[in-house]
Amino acid sequence: MLEEKNQGSTSLSSIGEFGLINHLTNKFKINHKSTVVGIGDDAAVINNSGELLVTTDMLIEGVHFDLSYVPLKHLGYKSVMVNLSDVYAMNGNAKAITVSIAASNRFPLEALEELYNGIKTACDLYNIDLIGGDTTSSTSGLIISITAIGNVAKHKKVLRSTAKANNLILVTGDLGGAFLGLKVLEREKEVFKVNPNNQPDLDQYSYIIERQLKPEARKDIIELLAKLEVQPTSMIDISDGLSSEILHLINQSNLGCRIYEDKIPLDPTVINACEEFNLDSTTIALNGGEDYELLFTIKQEDYSKIKGNPNLTVIGHMSDPKDGSYLVTRANELVEIKAKGWRFFNDQE
Ligand code: ADP
Ligand code: MG
Repeated sequence: MLEEKNQGSTSLSSIGEFGLINHLTNKFKINHKSTVVGIGDDAAVINNSGELLVTTDMLIEGVHFDLSYVPLKHLGYKSVMVNLSDVYAMNGNAKAITVSIAASNRFPLEALEELYNGIKTACDLYNIDLIGGDTTSSTSGLIISITAIGNVAKHKKVLRSTAKANNLILVTGDLGGAFLGLKVLEREKEVFKVNPNNQPDLDQYSYIIERQLKPEARKDIIELLAKLEVQPTSMIDISDGLSSEILHLINQSNLGCRIYEDKIPLDPTVINACEEFNLDSTTIALNGGEDYELLFTIKQEDYSKIKGNPNLTVIGHMSDPKDGSYLVTRANELVEIKAKGWRFFNDQE
């Protein structure tokens, strides 16, 4: 990390578009019976059962990632995760992706190989078929657009708009780590600019840096909920931060809510890093984003099924829309939940 990159020097123009596509994709195997035709024809062919889920995310260099501290392999992995996360947030099975890339001639073949190594690791671990994409040049920088395709049985799909008053609100894992990981990486980038020989000791930050660079989509939770026979009443993945995601559920389900500050799950390393950066940990958990955890609601009668599970935390409940949407602080005060600009956030942005 933070070193001058020496990635090799095979120029993209020397290998040609078809050579490039073949070179990048020939190690990928098709695993799903539902993939009838993968890479190589004008369109992929999928034999689908249930309802089809389709979701796309685009990542642009300089906007969504900074290659001075994001290794290309991690970028490939994360680009897949952010898409799979959206399929799981519908309670679906992710099955296939297409990957479209635009790269400037600044990128040698070896750089794109690294990117595809990360994409392949993600496909192998999450059992995803790479079934197509597009490859083109860009005048500057790198653009990655991934589409994920999945399916879900009609009666299993979970929307944002179907929560009910008094449903319990749950979150998976812990929050705020990815944002703080980014803070650490940005700080080290500045230090590196001043003194390139200073190799930082980042061991104490490994958890939060990993949360930023290598998030995991919560396929395990979808499997867990199926095993526990819990059908969420609404669900969303946490890409922008807890407060904006909870507002999506509330607005689309036409409800209000109470979230309890003391229930929000925080890892000890998140609390330590907040102290170091002089940030309020609740603010970071609410607004940090990029944690790719799942936020969902369940019926109260399902509580006994999820009780005590270390992956799941009840953080509040839905209520009547006229009750509004509030965070109940540790001091028992009510603070209205807003998408951004909440509490101390204004002067930190
Ligand atoms: P077309 O000209 O018909 O759009 P392309 O020559 O762009 O076809 O692509 C040939 C095949 O390679 C198609 O199956 C396409 O989906 C696949 N493909 C192209 N670029 C990529 C990529 N970056 N990653 C994965 N598959 C790709
Ligand atoms: Mg094409």
